[in-house]
Amino acid sequence: MSIDQASAQDLQAQLADLEKQYNAFEAANLSLDLTRGKPNSAQLDLSNSMDGILNSAYVTRAGEDCRNYGGLDGLAEAKELFSKVLGVSPQETLIGGNASLTLMFQTLAFAHLFGVRGADSAWIKEGVVKFLCPVPGYDRHFSVCEELGIEMIPVAMTDQGPDMDQVEALVKADSAIKGIWCVPRFSNPTGIVYSDDVVDRIAQLGKIAGAHFRVMWDNAYAVHALHREAPELANIMDAARRYGTEDSVIIFGSTSKITFAGAGLAFMGTSEENLKYFKKHLGMVTIGPDKVNQLRHVKFFGDFDGLMTHMDKHAELLKPRFDAVLQHLEDGLKGSDMGGWTVPEGGYFISFDCLPGLAKEIIALAAAVGVKLTPAGATFPYGLDPEDKNIRLAPSFPALSDINKTMEVFVVCVKLASIRLKLQAE
Ligand code: PMP
Repeated sequence: MSIDQASAQDLQAQLADLEKQYNAFEAANLSLDLTRGKPNSAQLDLSNSMDGILNSAYVTRAGEDCRNYGGLDGLAEAKELFSKVLGVSPQETLIGGNASLTLMFQTLAFAHLFGVRGADSAWIKEGVVKFLCPVPGYDRHFSVCEELGIEMIPVAMTDQGPDMDQVEALVKADSAIKGIWCVPRFSNPTGIVYSDDVVDRIAQLGKIAGAHFRVMWDNAYAVHALHREAPELANIMDAARRYGTEDSVIIFGSTSKITFAGAGLAFMGTSEENLKYFKKHLGMVTIGPDKVNQLRHVKFFGDFDGLMTHMDKHAELLKPRFDAVLQHLEDGLKGSDMGGWTVPEGGYFISFDCLPGLAKEIIALAAAVGVKLTPAGATFPYGLDPEDKNIRLAPSFPALSDINKTMEVFVVCVKLASIRLKLQAE
């Protein structure tokens, strides 16, 4: 029943019962963690046969020895395969090291310090530099901006993607805005997929904002659906080609949640002209990436269909974990008016919005009985959730039994905090 309809007497009775349950959790000495979106060990095991797969055959299609130096932008066969994940041509693809976050950091650091088209275009020369950050969003995107001294402007997320009226108005009004962060398919943390209209409007931002504006299209969950019928994402580079804004779009991805999170491959897709400038600076950072790993990955998947079949196995392992979280939320909180949540069809997260002002308290209540949740505010720039209401749930890593226990605790903490607030207000 909704807490808005319950009598004070009902609420007091519920509270007494919840406190009993909470005390029992305290006595149980729990140690549970639902914080970060890491693959679980069964997921990692899916790729174990990559080890030794080359069987001493280190020569690439072009006849190079992949163990040696060189090949700054990656192997041709890796570009061919992973360009399909990015939705660009192999010529528009660069294969990097083990983390797309590195490529994203370097993209922004190079643009900021050295310019997107030479020193005169360095963002830092313009003084204040700003970035649009759809919220809730991914904390590490926000840390990159913070590290570089780029000011962040939060913009609202809808169930279709960023609020594009707000985005376009901001970009038109302020030339210090140099870009926007996007996680377009199975967004972190809401799990939504940007609509075709939103993708089309984002592809046009380059026209409104000027030549040095960049869309950081972090398609980290491009192929990470929980089932094959999950919504597809429109191809942003195709849209950008229609508007002549290819330079404004930089697409990122990795196999962190496909093969090994710490030993996978990262890749980026953008215009050939952008790649030329990026490589000029990248060449000062490294002589070349780990091409042995690139060749292993290509051999392991064979082709894009092989990669998609592999992703079905991930989905099989992840789906029951998402279902368990959602079932607890449904059973415990549906119709209660104590919070709302997203029902993602892919990605790694479920986003929960509690009553305003309670996220910190709910997370602290859970922590006090041994259940770690992502810190309140983590999904907002500077760690500041103005309404203190968003909580990111990350069900991929823990065992199903631990997820069930964690969610039992979570639901009780949400109810405790909400009912206490309601009673205080009466
Ligand atoms: N982007 C998003 C949206 C993510 O959620 C994550 C991982 N949590 C990453 C990037 C990190 O990717 P990588 O391991 O390739 O650095």
